Amino acid sequence: MTGLLPMTRVAVIGAGIMGSGIAQLAATAGYDVAVYDANPQQLSRARREIEASLDKLVSKGIVDRGAAPQALARLTDHASLEAAAADADLVVEAAAERLSVKQSILAESASVAAPSALLATNTSQLSITAIASAVPGASDRVVGLHFFNPAVLMRLVEVVAGLETSTATIDSARAFAESLGKETVVCRKDSPGFLTSRIAAIVRLECLRMLEEGVGTAQDIDRALRLGLNFPIGPLELGDRNGHDTFLLILESMTETLGERFRPTVGLRNLVAAGRLGRKSGRGIYTYDEHGAITGSEQP
Ligand code: NAD
Repeated sequence: MTGLLPMTRVAVIGAGIMGSGIAQLAATAGYDVAVYDANPQQLSRARREIEASLDKLVSKGIVDRGAAPQALARLTDHASLEAAAADADLVVEAAAERLSVKQSILAESASVAAPSALLATNTSQLSITAIASAVPGASDRVVGLHFFNPAVLMRLVEVVAGLETSTATIDSARAFAESLGKETVVCRKDSPGFLTSRIAAIVRLECLRMLEEGVGTAQDIDRALRLGLNFPIGPLELGDRNGHDTFLLILESMTETLGERFRPTVGLRNLVAAGRLGRKSGRGIYTYDEHGAITGSEQP
């Protein structure tokens, strides 16, 4: 790899399921991490979740006891995007899965970050080239940095090149992901859903269709895929972890780009309309007790 950008300051924009995990990872790896979320309550929730996650990693011996407070000290919350992204060497956008949201975050970030800063998006499937069109003078520095949920534990980061992304940017994005202990794959063609989301979306969608047709219960569909097809977690249970609102946005976008086979089901729309977003709202396809254990399921 050549011409790697030196990075010390990372800004994470959007502190939901993914942003909080990415911020935690970067702070644990020694970066100074500035975090911003449009919803101030989410910032405090993210911090509580990071503290709890670090505690768990320390108790399992994955993170050194002394390293956890140091990581927390490297994390700063900010009341504006401008303050969080100021002078950043790397901006990682992890906000809602909407093109216009991602474009405006990158445009605003580019105007305050370091002049050579990498502008990364954690989009699951949107066009990196379309996101980069919001920063015409800096499109060579825009890259997909696609983490997986939970970001702290999943081994892969998918690096996605837009049409104008430079080789130096791809190399720096890979080096950053590797500095967090991740392995990388590079999706060199900016294609909707990249190498991963395209497959993941189809599998989960088919499970939802089967659930809505009454082919099996959620538990049996998930168990069938775990025990019979060797999935590490059932796709419906994973859907509850990932957030059905985000999945709906992903499917709507992929229906536009890749066609009818990605059309969301009525049941998924109903789940989102009812606020049953999954674990983040306390209830999704499955119901949970106060410790987060599954207590049952309801057909959407
Ligand atoms: P989430 O709903 O948990 O969090 C999104 C956060 O972004 C929210 O806290 C929201 O307040 C904030 N936000 C919205 N607009 C904003 C703005 N303009 N500026 C700052 N903050 C803003 O969503 P998530 O699951 O963390 O997903 C975030 C991104 O990561 C999406 O692009 C999604 O496709 C992608 N992604 C999600 C998963 C997953 O499993 N959930 C996996 C990989 C990638």
